[in-house]
Amino acid sequence: MTTRPDHASPWVLDTRTLGRRPGSMRPVQVQVPVLEPIGLDVLAVPPGADVELDLRLESVAEGVLVSGIARAEAVGECARCLGELTVPVTATIRELFAYPGSTTAETTDEDEIGRVVDDLVDLEQTVRDEMVLALPLAPLCRPDCPGLCSECGEPLADLDANHSHEILDPRWDALRSRFGAADGPDPEGDPGADPGHRADPA
Ligand SMILES: [Zn+2]
Ligand SMILES: [Zn+2]
Repeated sequence: MTTRPDHASPWVLDTRTLGRRPGSMRPVQVQVPVLEPIGLDVLAVPPGADVELDLRLESVAEGVLVSGIARAEAVGECARCLGELTVPVTATIRELFAYPGSTTAETTDEDEIGRVVDDLVDLEQTVRDEMVLALPLAPLCRPDCPGLCSECGEPLADLDANHSHEILDPRWDALRSRFGAADGPDPEGDPGADPGHRADPA
């Protein structure tokens, strides 16, 4: 079963003007609006954005070779501070679409190698797959993003350089009440000796 490309889809290109003489070429530059996000929740080219296709169609013996670049901007969150960020994504496209009846079409599966159907090629799956692979795995808002404070979860970039927290440990509370609030815990002290933490007799 060959999937028939939807002529109205902006991802579908008509190869008729290319002709079938091997070696003939045609540049294609189009902006395709994104309807379904390309990527994951944390980072994706969002609906409403455009993918810019800068491609070359080339007639080869077995079909049409589509090569070039797909570009878009992905929106997501910084892997360290979770702030919103925008990253440019560039994917390299190089995909053969086989003519029906060609040796390639006879010897391969349609999900391995696309097909030219009614002189049309549908680039959507190819471009989506390549763009997802081109997305950075751990995008950063800036290369030296300091991330979040491990105590309060605020972005360290927004906090004072000397930002710190009083460490609240219940064992230390018990020691404080024994020795007075002004004194810190004895670093040599054994927390197991704290009467509040003695194991209950079973
Ligand atoms: Zn960040
Ligand atoms: Zn903090």
